[in-house]
Amino acid sequence: MNFVLHGAPVSAGISIGQAHLVSSARMEVAHYEIPDNAVQGEIFRLEAAIARAKQELSALENQIPRGAPGEFGAFINLHRMILDDSSLSQAPKALIRERRCNAEWALVQQMEKLAEQFEAMEDAYLRERRQDIEQAVERLLKALAGGQSLPEPPPSAEKDLIVVAHDLSPADMLLFKRHRFGAFVTDVGGVTSHTAIVARSLDIPAIVGLHHARDMIREGDTLIVDGTQGVLVVDPDPLVLAEYRLRQSQHGLERQKLKRLRSTPSATLDGTPVELFANIELPQDTVEVKEAGAMGIGLFRTEFLFMNRKDLPSEDEQFEAYRDVARAMQGAPVVIRTLDIGADKAIGGGAQPHMPNPALGLRAIRYCLAEPQVFLAQLRAILRASKFGCVRILLPMLAHAHEIAQALALVKQARQQLQDKGLAYEPGVEVGGMIEIPAAALALPMFMKKLDFLSLGTNDLIQYTLAIDRTDDAVAHLYDPLHPAVLHLIAQVIRTANRAGTPVAVCGEMAGEPSLVRLLLGLGLRNFSMHPAQLLAIKERVLRTNLAQAQPLAQRVLRQPDPARARVLLAKLNA
Ligand code: PEP
Ligand code: MG
Repeated sequence: MNFVLHGAPVSAGISIGQAHLVSSARMEVAHYEIPDNAVQGEIFRLEAAIARAKQELSALENQIPRGAPGEFGAFINLHRMILDDSSLSQAPKALIRERRCNAEWALVQQMEKLAEQFEAMEDAYLRERRQDIEQAVERLLKALAGGQSLPEPPPSAEKDLIVVAHDLSPADMLLFKRHRFGAFVTDVGGVTSHTAIVARSLDIPAIVGLHHARDMIREGDTLIVDGTQGVLVVDPDPLVLAEYRLRQSQHGLERQKLKRLRSTPSATLDGTPVELFANIELPQDTVEVKEAGAMGIGLFRTEFLFMNRKDLPSEDEQFEAYRDVARAMQGAPVVIRTLDIGADKAIGGGAQPHMPNPALGLRAIRYCLAEPQVFLAQLRAILRASKFGCVRILLPMLAHAHEIAQALALVKQARQQLQDKGLAYEPGVEVGGMIEIPAAALALPMFMKKLDFLSLGTNDLIQYTLAIDRTDDAVAHLYDPLHPAVLHLIAQVIRTANRAGTPVAVCGEMAGEPSLVRLLLGLGLRNFSMHPAQLLAIKERVLRTNLAQAQPLAQRVLRQPDPARARVLLAKLNA
């Protein structure tokens, strides 16, 4: 059946391919091919996990209190039967043998096949049994994860698959870095959620907030994902397909043309230099950073090193990651942000502690100050990496003077610890702070006094100024970078920092939005940090900007109390 869905565009470009329906569980499991000689071992792992899951069920059965409702026992029996059934105990083994799938991947594939069969049943009661199968598989996956850590999957060729999911976490999205799908679309999610940010960093088209896509699309359906407009076409007719293929090649040509700007110095028409930096999540992203010709890394989101694993990365492991980035950048600045976990970024494989309001909870620097040993290990790793390039430390989510004081005291302590151990580090590593909480923007002098540089995190600044959860598509229409309150905070931070001679950058998604370049330049910004994929389009804007015209128009946008009129002025600025 041919139909079109509209959602929020997250990552530009057009992708045409086959739908690949995934559940979150599927994304969370490792997916790799095993060598011939590992087949038997993999089958043993699966059998051991089934035995362990059954033991757990027996232990549960023994704990059922007398007089408990009969459903308890029935539920355990049902799960035991599911585990015993050949569709789960035998069929995945065939996938391991014949397709060389790892046990987790074989199980999840089989689970989805069964779930689809149940989904198609007429009887509502039987249809609901799909959940029991998923729960039994979850139990097996947990049992499998309890063993040794898994080898890294090799990259696979999945470029023509379009992932269709209800929701994906940032940790799920990280797996895309290994598997390189053609595009992704989800039912829920906000445009500046970390899931969306990772999609942008992968430079694959993506749409969020499609509401019922996961339910309406079937595995293998032909899809067109227009990540520029937020349009998803399902089962397109030949004319539409031809039109989108044309647009796809035009988009490709434009991208190709932009590549010519790679080594052009970034400056406005009057010659004012503008620094264009890149944001990264993992050390391997430096390849794209160099391809885009970035002048440095303005934001290394280190928390991504902590995801999809059960343990925390050790100081040495972190040191190696930071050192590799510093080396790859050959002396260009590398701003390493300390761990910003919490809110939509969970670390570790287990359940997160319950927080009534995660975005307002123990996130980022708050977590690090509550866990000084974790923080110190990271600070030592960053300081050690400073010997290999121009490394800077960036502290996220600062709001209070005492947080800055405590964080700086810990930086000092980390230096002392390295000195005591005779480990080398650069003494002059600069420490900066993110301005992403309105309180920090409003009390800026307090920050400038203690910090070497500032970086505006507009994603969170907008979230906290407008009280809008950046991950919630239900309020995504209210997430507005041009809201006068947001613009005033941004303008004031840039102005105050420039007057004091404190370097200031924007590293939130606003910095990678071509339509906002002239506005930010007009407000005095000279350092933008964004995903490498956006960098050349931003450079093109910078090169075509007349600062003398942009400045007064930017001030008019800022002074305009009516958002609709502000948009008209912005259009004029961009003309
Ligand atoms: C921001 O908040 O704008 C930012 C750059 O940090 P993150 O998106 O990782 O929260
Ligand atoms: Mg932030």
